[in-house]
Amino acid sequence: MMDSKKAPMTASERTETDRVREFACRSCGATLVYHAGTRDLKCEYCGTEQSIDTSAVSAEEHELDELQKKPHAVGFGLETRSFKCDNCGATTACPANIVSTKCVFCGSSYVLTGDHPPDIIRPETLIPFQVDKDSAIGKFRSWIRGLWFRPNDLKRISRLSDITGVYTPFWTFDSNASSNWTADAGYYYYETETYTAHENGRSVTKTRQVQRTRWVPSSGAHTAFYDDELICASAGIYFEMMQRVYPFDLKALTPYQPELLSGWLAEEYNVEPLPAWEIASKNINNKEYRACAIQVPGDTHRNLRVNTTHDSITWKHVLLPVWLAAYQYRAKTYRFLVNGQTGLIQGDAPWSWWKIGFAVAAALALATLGYYFFQGGP
Ligand SMILES: [Zn+2]
Ligand SMILES: [Zn+2]
Repeated sequence: MMDSKKAPMTASERTETDRVREFACRSCGATLVYHAGTRDLKCEYCGTEQSIDTSAVSAEEHELDELQKKPHAVGFGLETRSFKCDNCGATTACPANIVSTKCVFCGSSYVLTGDHPPDIIRPETLIPFQVDKDSAIGKFRSWIRGLWFRPNDLKRISRLSDITGVYTPFWTFDSNASSNWTADAGYYYYETETYTAHENGRSVTKTRQVQRTRWVPSSGAHTAFYDDELICASAGIYFEMMQRVYPFDLKALTPYQPELLSGWLAEEYNVEPLPAWEIASKNINNKEYRACAIQVPGDTHRNLRVNTTHDSITWKHVLLPVWLAAYQYRAKTYRFLVNGQTGLIQGDAPWSWWKIGFAVAAALALATLGYYFFQGGP
Protein backbone atom coordinates (compact mmCIF):
# COMPACT_ATOMS: atom_id res chain seq x y z
CA MET A 1 0.00 0.00 0.00
CA MET A 2 1.30 3.42 -0.91
CA ASP A 3 1.55 6.14 1.69
CA SER A 4 -0.02 9.30 0.30
CA LYS A 5 1.31 11.61 2.99
CA LYS A 6 4.73 12.96 2.09
CA ALA A 7 7.26 12.25 4.81
CA PRO A 8 9.95 14.83 5.64
CA MET A 9 12.98 14.49 3.40
CA THR A 10 15.52 12.06 4.78
CA ALA A 11 19.25 12.61 4.67
CA SER A 12 19.62 10.13 1.84
CA GLU A 13 17.00 11.88 -0.26
CA ARG A 14 18.76 15.18 0.30
CA THR A 15 21.98 13.55 -0.82
CA GLU A 16 20.20 12.46 -3.99
CA THR A 17 18.88 15.96 -4.73
CA ASP A 18 22.10 17.73 -3.89
CA ARG A 19 24.07 15.40 -6.14
CA VAL A 20 27.13 17.19 -7.38
CA ARG A 21 28.41 16.09 -10.75
CA GLU A 22 32.06 16.54 -10.23
CA PHE A 23 33.16 13.72 -12.47
CA ALA A 24 30.48 13.86 -15.11
CA CYS A 25 30.17 11.34 -17.92
CA ARG A 26 30.94 12.82 -21.34
CA SER A 27 28.16 10.83 -22.98
CA CYS A 28 25.25 10.98 -20.56
CA GLY A 29 26.21 13.38 -17.77
CA ALA A 30 25.86 10.83 -14.94
CA THR A 31 28.52 10.74 -12.24
CA LEU A 32 31.49 8.56 -13.06
CA VAL A 33 32.68 6.19 -10.34
CA TYR A 34 36.08 4.68 -9.76
CA HIS A 35 36.25 1.24 -11.38
CA ALA A 36 38.03 -1.25 -9.06
CA GLY A 37 41.18 -2.85 -10.40
CA THR A 38 41.72 -0.17 -13.06
CA ARG A 39 42.93 3.40 -13.43
CA ASP A 40 39.58 4.41 -14.88
CA LEU A 41 36.38 6.10 -13.95
CA LYS A 42 33.34 4.33 -15.35
CA CYS A 43 29.77 5.42 -15.98
CA GLU A 44 27.37 3.00 -14.32
CA TYR A 45 24.62 3.97 -16.76
CA CYS A 46 26.15 3.96 -20.23
CA GLY A 47 29.45 2.20 -19.56
CA THR A 48 31.67 5.03 -20.78
CA GLU A 49 35.17 4.78 -19.35
CA GLN A 50 37.54 7.66 -18.73
CA SER A 51 41.08 7.21 -17.50
CA ILE A 52 42.24 9.14 -14.45
CA ASP A 53 45.03 11.58 -15.22
CA THR A 54 47.81 10.67 -12.84
CA SER A 55 50.53 12.79 -14.45
CA ALA A 56 50.30 15.79 -12.14
CA VAL A 57 50.12 14.13 -8.74
CA SER A 58 52.75 13.18 -6.21
CA ALA A 59 52.57 12.17 -2.58
CA GLU A 60 54.76 13.90 -0.05
CA GLU A 61 55.60 12.71 3.41
CA HIS A 62 55.41 15.26 6.20
CA GLU A 63 57.75 16.02 9.07
CA LEU A 64 56.20 15.39 12.47
CA ASP A 65 56.61 18.98 13.68
CA GLU A 66 54.81 20.23 10.56
CA LEU A 67 51.60 19.22 12.27
CA GLN A 68 51.55 22.33 14.44
CA LYS A 69 53.14 24.73 11.99
CA LYS A 70 51.87 24.18 8.49
CA PRO A 71 48.28 24.26 7.30
CA HIS A 72 47.18 21.15 5.44
CA ALA A 73 44.80 20.40 2.66
CA VAL A 74 41.63 19.23 4.37
CA GLY A 75 38.70 17.07 3.38
CA PHE A 76 38.64 14.55 0.57
CA GLY A 77 38.69 17.03 -2.30
CA LEU A 78 35.29 16.05 -3.55
CA GLU A 79 31.79 16.76 -2.36
CA THR A 80 31.07 14.50 0.60
CA ARG A 81 28.58 14.35 3.40
CA SER A 82 29.69 13.03 6.79
CA PHE A 83 27.70 10.61 8.90
CA LYS A 84 28.75 10.07 12.47
CA CYS A 85 27.44 6.89 14.03
CA ASP A 86 26.13 7.19 17.58
CA ASN A 87 26.59 3.51 18.14
CA CYS A 88 30.17 2.69 17.05
CA GLY A 89 31.63 6.20 16.70
CA ALA A 90 32.74 5.85 13.08
CA THR A 91 32.43 8.89 10.84
CA THR A 92 31.74 7.91 7.26
CA ALA A 93 32.30 10.31 4.39
CA CYS A 94 29.81 9.67 1.67
CA PRO A 95 30.52 11.10 -1.80
CA ALA A 96 27.56 12.91 -3.31
CA ASN A 97 26.98 10.13 -5.81
CA ILE A 98 26.20 7.43 -3.25
CA VAL A 99 23.32 7.08 -0.89
CA SER A 100 23.95 5.82 2.60
CA THR A 101 21.20 5.43 5.18
CA LYS A 102 22.84 3.37 7.86
CA CYS A 103 26.25 2.86 9.39
CA VAL A 104 28.23 0.44 7.22
CA PHE A 105 30.36 -0.63 10.18
CA CYS A 106 27.75 -1.69 12.73
CA GLY A 107 24.53 -1.66 10.73
CA SER A 108 23.01 0.90 13.08
CA SER A 109 20.48 3.21 11.48
CA TYR A 110 20.85 5.80 14.21
CA VAL A 111 23.19 8.05 12.29
CA LEU A 112 23.52 11.78 12.59
CA THR A 113 24.22 13.89 9.54
CA GLY A 114 27.01 16.38 9.48
CA ASP A 115 26.58 18.94 6.73
CA HIS A 116 29.95 20.55 7.33
CA PRO A 117 32.81 19.57 5.06
CA PRO A 118 35.21 17.33 6.98
CA ASP A 119 38.15 19.23 8.47
CA ILE A 120 40.34 16.16 8.49
CA ILE A 121 43.80 16.20 6.94
CA ARG A 122 43.54 15.11 3.33
CA PRO A 123 45.03 11.66 2.60
CA GLU A 124 48.40 11.68 0.85
CA THR A 125 48.17 8.20 -0.60
CA LEU A 126 45.82 5.30 -0.97
CA ILE A 127 45.63 1.80 -2.36
CA PRO A 128 42.84 1.82 -4.95
CA PHE A 129 40.30 -1.02 -4.75
CA GLN A 130 41.56 -4.02 -6.75
CA VAL A 131 38.72 -6.36 -5.79
CA ASP A 132 35.38 -5.31 -7.30
CA LYS A 133 31.96 -6.04 -5.83
CA ASP A 134 31.34 -9.23 -7.84
CA SER A 135 34.70 -10.71 -6.81
CA ALA A 136 34.06 -9.73 -3.18
CA ILE A 137 30.72 -11.59 -3.33
CA GLY A 138 32.48 -14.54 -4.98
CA LYS A 139 35.03 -14.55 -2.13
CA PHE A 140 32.14 -14.72 0.34
CA ARG A 141 30.57 -17.70 -1.45
CA SER A 142 33.77 -19.76 -1.53
CA TRP A 143 34.67 -18.74 2.03
CA ILE A 144 31.33 -19.91 3.43
CA ARG A 145 31.65 -23.18 1.45
CA GLY A 146 35.16 -23.83 2.76
CA LEU A 147 34.47 -23.38 6.49
CA TRP A 148 34.78 -26.41 8.78
CA PHE A 149 32.45 -27.55 11.55
CA ARG A 150 29.58 -25.32 10.45
CA PRO A 151 25.86 -26.08 10.16
CA ASN A 152 24.92 -28.04 7.02
CA ASP A 153 22.44 -25.46 5.79
CA LEU A 154 24.82 -22.52 6.29
CA LYS A 155 25.83 -22.15 2.65
CA ARG A 156 22.30 -22.77 1.43
CA ILE A 157 20.35 -20.33 3.56
CA SER A 158 22.94 -17.74 4.58
CA ARG A 159 21.97 -14.60 2.74
CA LEU A 160 24.39 -11.81 1.95
CA SER A 161 22.61 -8.72 3.21
CA ASP A 162 25.16 -5.96 2.82
CA ILE A 163 28.44 -5.43 1.07
CA THR A 164 30.10 -2.05 0.85
CA GLY A 165 33.56 -0.94 -0.18
CA VAL A 166 35.06 1.53 2.28
CA TYR A 167 38.41 3.26 2.21
CA THR A 168 39.58 2.97 5.82
CA PRO A 169 41.96 5.46 7.44
CA PHE A 170 45.52 4.72 8.54
CA TRP A 171 48.66 6.62 9.39
CA THR A 172 52.09 5.46 8.35
CA PHE A 173 55.28 6.68 9.96
CA ASP A 174 58.92 6.50 8.92
CA SER A 175 61.72 6.97 11.42
CA ASN A 176 65.43 6.60 11.89
CA ALA A 177 65.67 4.88 15.26
CA SER A 178 68.91 4.87 17.28
CA SER A 179 69.20 2.82 20.43
CA ASN A 180 71.83 2.58 23.15
CA TRP A 181 71.61 -0.38 25.44
CA THR A 182 73.19 -1.69 28.63
CA ALA A 183 72.75 -5.13 30.12
CA ASP A 184 74.39 -7.82 32.22
CA ALA A 185 75.59 -10.47 29.78
CA GLY A 186 75.47 -13.91 31.37
CA TYR A 187 77.99 -16.66 30.58
CA TYR A 188 77.25 -20.20 31.77
CA TYR A 189 79.93 -22.27 33.47
CA TYR A 190 79.79 -25.52 35.45
CA GLU A 191 81.04 -26.34 38.91
CA THR A 192 81.45 -29.67 40.56
CA GLU A 193 79.46 -29.80 43.75
CA THR A 194 79.66 -32.45 46.45
CA TYR A 195 76.54 -33.52 48.28
CA THR A 196 75.43 -36.19 50.71
CA ALA A 197 72.95 -38.83 49.64
CA HIS A 198 71.38 -41.70 51.57
CA GLU A 199 71.70 -45.11 50.02
CA ASN A 200 70.61 -48.34 51.75
CA GLY A 201 70.48 -46.56 55.10
CA ARG A 202 74.03 -45.18 54.78
CA SER A 203 75.23 -41.65 54.08
CA VAL A 204 77.44 -41.40 50.98
CA THR A 205 79.24 -38.38 49.53
CA LYS A 206 78.64 -37.81 45.81
CA THR A 207 79.46 -35.12 43.20
CA ARG A 208 77.38 -33.45 40.51
CA GLN A 209 77.80 -30.72 37.80
CA VAL A 210 75.91 -27.49 38.50
CA GLN A 211 75.32 -24.67 35.97
CA ARG A 212 76.31 -21.23 37.21
CA THR A 213 76.20 -17.83 35.46
CA ARG A 214 78.96 -15.27 35.40
CA TRP A 215 77.51 -11.76 34.88
CA VAL A 216 79.52 -9.22 32.88
CA PRO A 217 78.34 -5.63 32.31
CA SER A 218 78.00 -4.95 28.60
CA SER A 219 76.64 -2.26 26.32
CA GLY A 220 76.08 -1.48 22.65
CA ALA A 221 74.13 0.43 20.07
CA HIS A 222 71.66 -0.39 17.34
CA THR A 223 70.23 1.75 14.56
CA ALA A 224 67.60 0.99 11.96
CA PHE A 225 65.33 2.78 9.51
CA TYR A 226 61.65 1.97 9.91
CA ASP A 227 59.56 2.43 6.79
CA ASP A 228 55.75 2.70 6.77
CA GLU A 229 54.92 1.70 10.35
CA LEU A 230 51.17 1.29 9.89
CA ILE A 231 48.65 2.52 12.48
CA CYS A 232 44.93 1.94 12.02
CA ALA A 233 42.85 5.07 12.66
CA SER A 234 39.40 3.52 12.15
CA ALA A 235 36.63 3.67 14.72
CA GLY A 236 34.35 1.39 12.73
CA ILE A 237 36.61 -1.67 12.45
CA TYR A 238 38.24 -3.14 15.53
CA PHE A 239 41.98 -3.40 15.07
CA GLU A 240 41.90 -7.13 15.92
CA MET A 241 39.43 -7.69 13.10
CA MET A 242 41.39 -5.49 10.69
CA GLN A 243 44.61 -7.35 11.46
CA ARG A 244 43.00 -10.59 10.31
CA VAL A 245 42.92 -9.29 6.69
CA TYR A 246 46.52 -8.02 6.84
CA PRO A 247 48.86 -7.60 5.11
CA PHE A 248 48.36 -4.81 2.61
CA ASP A 249 51.11 -4.39 0.06
CA LEU A 250 52.07 -0.79 0.80
CA LYS A 251 54.28 -0.70 -2.30
CA ALA A 252 51.02 -0.24 -4.20
CA LEU A 253 50.25 3.07 -2.45
CA THR A 254 49.55 5.74 -5.02
CA PRO A 255 49.14 9.50 -4.61
CA TYR A 256 45.66 10.44 -3.46
CA GLN A 257 43.23 11.67 -6.09
CA PRO A 258 39.58 12.47 -5.33
CA GLU A 259 38.54 10.55 -8.47
CA LEU A 260 39.55 7.30 -6.79
CA LEU A 261 36.87 7.90 -4.13
CA SER A 262 34.05 8.60 -6.52
CA GLY A 263 31.31 6.07 -5.85
CA TRP A 264 32.98 4.66 -2.71
CA LEU A 265 32.66 5.42 0.98
CA ALA A 266 35.57 6.61 3.08
CA GLU A 267 35.89 6.64 6.84
CA GLU A 268 37.30 9.76 8.47
CA TYR A 269 40.15 9.02 10.86
CA ASN A 270 39.26 8.72 14.52
CA VAL A 271 42.84 8.79 15.82
CA GLU A 272 44.75 12.05 15.40
CA PRO A 273 48.32 11.93 14.01
CA LEU A 274 50.16 12.68 17.26
CA PRO A 275 48.44 9.95 19.33
CA ALA A 276 49.01 7.64 16.32
CA TRP A 277 52.74 8.47 16.46
CA GLU A 278 52.70 7.58 20.19
CA ILE A 279 51.51 4.10 19.23
CA ALA A 280 53.88 3.82 16.25
CA SER A 281 56.92 4.87 18.30
CA LYS A 282 56.04 2.29 20.99
CA ASN A 283 55.84 -0.39 18.28
CA ILE A 284 59.22 0.66 16.89
CA ASN A 285 60.74 0.83 20.41
CA ASN A 286 59.59 -2.74 21.04
CA LYS A 287 61.26 -3.87 17.81
CA GLU A 288 64.44 -2.03 18.85
CA TYR A 289 64.32 -3.72 22.27
CA ARG A 290 64.20 -7.13 20.60
CA ALA A 291 67.02 -6.18 18.19
CA CYS A 292 69.21 -5.05 21.13
CA ALA A 293 68.42 -8.21 23.12
CA ILE A 294 69.88 -10.23 20.23
CA GLN A 295 73.06 -8.10 20.35
CA VAL A 296 73.82 -8.84 24.02
CA PRO A 297 76.70 -11.35 24.03
CA GLY A 298 76.85 -14.49 26.16
CA ASP A 299 74.33 -17.24 26.87
CA THR A 300 71.70 -15.13 28.60
CA HIS A 301 71.16 -11.60 29.87
CA ARG A 302 69.43 -9.56 32.55
CA ASN A 303 68.69 -5.89 33.29
CA LEU A 304 68.51 -4.95 29.62
CA ARG A 305 67.84 -1.22 29.34
CA VAL A 306 67.30 0.30 25.92
CA ASN A 307 67.09 4.00 25.19
CA THR A 308 65.71 4.70 21.71
CA THR A 309 65.55 8.09 20.02
CA HIS A 310 63.81 8.90 16.75
CA ASP A 311 65.12 11.10 14.02
CA SER A 312 63.71 12.28 10.65
CA ILE A 313 60.19 11.21 11.56
CA THR A 314 57.75 11.56 8.68
CA TRP A 315 54.09 10.67 8.41
CA LYS A 316 51.42 10.13 5.78
CA HIS A 317 47.66 9.77 5.98
CA VAL A 318 46.73 6.67 4.01
CA LEU A 319 43.46 5.07 2.92
CA LEU A 320 43.26 1.30 2.47
CA PRO A 321 40.46 -0.56 0.67
CA VAL A 322 38.21 -2.88 2.66
CA TRP A 323 34.91 -4.55 1.77
CA LEU A 324 32.63 -4.56 4.79
CA ALA A 325 29.83 -7.04 4.65
CA ALA A 326 27.19 -8.83 6.62
CA TYR A 327 25.07 -11.92 6.05
CA GLN A 328 22.02 -13.34 7.72
CA TYR A 329 21.72 -16.87 9.02
CA ARG A 330 18.71 -17.93 11.10
CA ALA A 331 17.75 -14.34 11.93
CA LYS A 332 21.23 -13.49 13.14
CA THR A 333 23.69 -11.11 11.50
CA TYR A 334 27.32 -12.14 10.99
CA ARG A 335 29.96 -9.73 9.76
CA PHE A 336 33.02 -10.23 7.62
CA LEU A 337 35.77 -8.22 5.92
CA VAL A 338 37.44 -8.63 2.56
CA ASN A 339 40.81 -7.02 1.94
CA GLY A 340 40.05 -4.81 -1.08
CA GLN A 341 43.59 -5.21 -2.38
CA THR A 342 44.33 -8.91 -1.88
CA GLY A 343 40.86 -10.46 -1.55
CA LEU A 344 41.72 -12.07 1.81
CA ILE A 345 38.45 -12.69 3.67
CA GLN A 346 37.86 -13.11 7.42
CA GLY A 347 34.74 -13.03 9.47
CA ASP A 348 32.29 -14.57 11.88
CA ALA A 349 30.26 -17.67 11.21
CA PRO A 350 28.10 -19.95 13.35
CA TRP A 351 29.63 -23.20 14.66
CA SER A 352 28.02 -26.58 14.57
CA TRP A 353 28.54 -27.87 18.14
CA TRP A 354 27.18 -31.23 17.10
CA LYS A 355 29.94 -31.59 14.45
CA ILE A 356 32.64 -30.36 16.81
CA GLY A 357 31.49 -32.80 19.51
CA PHE A 358 31.57 -35.63 16.98
CA ALA A 359 35.08 -34.67 15.81
CA VAL A 360 36.34 -34.51 19.41
CA ALA A 361 34.83 -37.94 20.17
CA ALA A 362 36.41 -39.39 17.01
CA ALA A 363 39.81 -37.92 17.91
CA LEU A 364 39.55 -39.38 21.44
CA ALA A 365 38.62 -42.79 20.05
CA LEU A 366 41.62 -42.72 17.69
CA ALA A 367 43.93 -41.68 20.53
CA THR A 368 42.62 -44.52 22.71
CA LEU A 369 43.10 -47.04 19.90
CA GLY A 370 46.63 -45.76 19.32
CA TYR A 371 47.40 -46.09 23.04
CA TYR A 372 46.33 -49.75 23.12
CA PHE A 373 48.16 -50.43 19.87
CA PHE A 374 51.46 -49.17 21.27
CA GLN A 375 50.87 -50.87 24.62
CA GLY A 376 50.44 -54.17 22.76
CA GLY A 377 46.73 -54.42 23.55
CA PRO A 378 44.81 -54.57 26.85
ZN1 LIG B 1 27.33 7.76 -19.05
ZN1 LIG C 1 28.24 2.41 13.51
